[in-house]
Amino acid sequence: EEHKVSNFLRQVIEKDLATGTYAQRQWGGGPGDAAFHDAGQPDPAKIRTRFPPEPNGYLHVGHAKSICLNFGLARDYGGVCHMRFDDTNPEKEEKEYVDSILDAVQWLGFNWQSNFGAQDGRPPESHLYYASNYFDFMYRAAEHLITAGLAYVDEQTAEEMRVNRGDFGKPGVDSPFRSRSPEENLARFREMRDGQLADGAAVLRAKIDMASPNINMRDPAIYRIRRATHHNTGDAWCIYPMYTFAHPIEDALEQITHSICTLEFEDQRPFYDWLLERLCEGGLLKAPPPRQYEFARLNLTYVITSKRKLAQLVNEKKVSGWDDPRMPTIVGLRRRGYTPEAIQLFAERIGVTKSDSWIDYSTLDGCLREDLENKAHRGMAVLDPVKLVLTNWAEVFGSDGYTEDCTQPALPHSAIAEGQTPPPDRVFKIGKDVWIERDDFEEVPPKGYKRLFPGNVVRLKGGYVIECTGCAKDADGKVTEVHAKVIAGTKSGTPGADSVKAKAAITWVGAADGVSAEVRLYDRLFTDPQPDAGGKNFLDALNPDSLKVVTAVVEPSLAAAKPDQKFQFERHGYFVADRADHGVGGKVVFNRVTGLKDSWGK
Ligand code: ATP
Ligand code: MG
Ligand code: MG
Repeated sequence: EEHKVSNFLRQVIEKDLATGTYAQRQWGGGPGDAAFHDAGQPDPAKIRTRFPPEPNGYLHVGHAKSICLNFGLARDYGGVCHMRFDDTNPEKEEKEYVDSILDAVQWLGFNWQSNFGAQDGRPPESHLYYASNYFDFMYRAAEHLITAGLAYVDEQTAEEMRVNRGDFGKPGVDSPFRSRSPEENLARFREMRDGQLADGAAVLRAKIDMASPNINMRDPAIYRIRRATHHNTGDAWCIYPMYTFAHPIEDALEQITHSICTLEFEDQRPFYDWLLERLCEGGLLKAPPPRQYEFARLNLTYVITSKRKLAQLVNEKKVSGWDDPRMPTIVGLRRRGYTPEAIQLFAERIGVTKSDSWIDYSTLDGCLREDLENKAHRGMAVLDPVKLVLTNWAEVFGSDGYTEDCTQPALPHSAIAEGQTPPPDRVFKIGKDVWIERDDFEEVPPKGYKRLFPGNVVRLKGGYVIECTGCAKDADGKVTEVHAKVIAGTKSGTPGADSVKAKAAITWVGAADGVSAEVRLYDRLFTDPQPDAGGKNFLDALNPDSLKVVTAVVEPSLAAAKPDQKFQFERHGYFVADRADHGVGGKVVFNRVTGLKDSWGK
């Protein structure tokens, strides 16, 4: 377990826990709203965070950072992290996304349960929430603001509102509707709710300060008219709360203590505080309200994390789907062979800061390699096969058809922890014909070349030492077979193994038991480290060589893989049996996860 590095969020939480910031808050039962049911009486000394995605797409590696952060803080401080769907926008939200998000969070190793009731023998409590369940409360909160003279219905056009909002260094201009009485506003707002106004004909605005240096405080819109069917509430509403109004209320109703979001919401914090303070004063919420803290979002080189642009890659068929192994979505990373442990390690290692920066992709890749190093069983695969014929096989072993078992450890000694039982050895066959990598033979060897060339002696890893004698070629001069003599008595693991010195050891797969496999060699999806920075068109930076499919030969232990099982193909890197296609119709399908060494550069 890596040491948990402190950061500004941990410091805030530790201070709040030490001073009992939330210890006085009246917990349990929610604010008396029928829509909100919170199980149990949590220990007031605990923190509550939340992960609040909009169910309008698949989660990506940036969300993974936020998930690890929010769920990780709750776990580390004995609190709970709420899983909340921020589904206040009636359009674009779908059940498919809800399911995939829940699946992604669980796969990453987190859950939304608390054990607050454990001391009373109560079962764990689920904390899965939908913001749309709070529409009634949000509506009441809006009426409260109107009654208190803190909100008004504005019927300017969108364009008038935009112009009158002013700009940096230029104060806004009051709307002619700003001086309406609370009674007039309440009546008009109810007409909005009752469907008597057209979409876009009016909005409800908080009444704050049209001269504020923070444009977000210049009477922000908090409700709009939108006739759209909502996936949860159907056609019950034709007005919907704006995100900036809904989000603080969601946090407060769920009694979140630390509401953590990305930096672009920093300018929204004054409104977050303004709104919750007014609702506490009005008795609609209990004090102290949650506080918002901002951290820098994840920017990863060679990766795009805009949902809209990711959708474009899918819709324009630049990739095979949301779970294409080149996609930075969690389903894509998973299919590529990433592990939850590697992603958690990555989140821990990059930490949280308050200023934007770019993280090099090699950091993520390195975390994966680190995680797989001691876990992934070894195996031999030949990705670009050419046949090697051991021409003296029958002389040495009596017949051309003779085969012999070879054994090799599934994990190297260094990967076995103290007291851990090593996995069973791999067993594979050597015979007269074996497959080797085409580039492991050179008829005329370049300087320093140590593998197969006429006269050179190498070991077939885990098998025999052989001496190369030549090759056969087709009419175009392409090598069709490599020829060698097997040297008797040199088998790995036998007393004579070191009797003949080999210049190199090469990987191979026996023709007798090798299995044909489809291997998908993935590379980075973009050639530009910042494909969408500075107004660039990210589609221009698509890497035309991001996928190469080869027919390989793999040893039997690899062919027997379960879908999603990861391996180190010796000398080649890490590979995973494809979750979707491996095993279908008896096919063997692997994805390259990553190489053995960093190839991402700086
Ligand atoms: P959209 O712009 O489509 O709304 P989003 O990226 O804001 O997409 P949400 O579903 O609203 O997606 O995000 C859920 C949470 O994930 C938010 O709290 C958001 O701050 C966080 N998040 C999103 N992208 C990143 C990122 N790149 N790095 C860190 N956190 C992120
Ligand atoms: Mg969003
Ligand atoms: Mg966003």
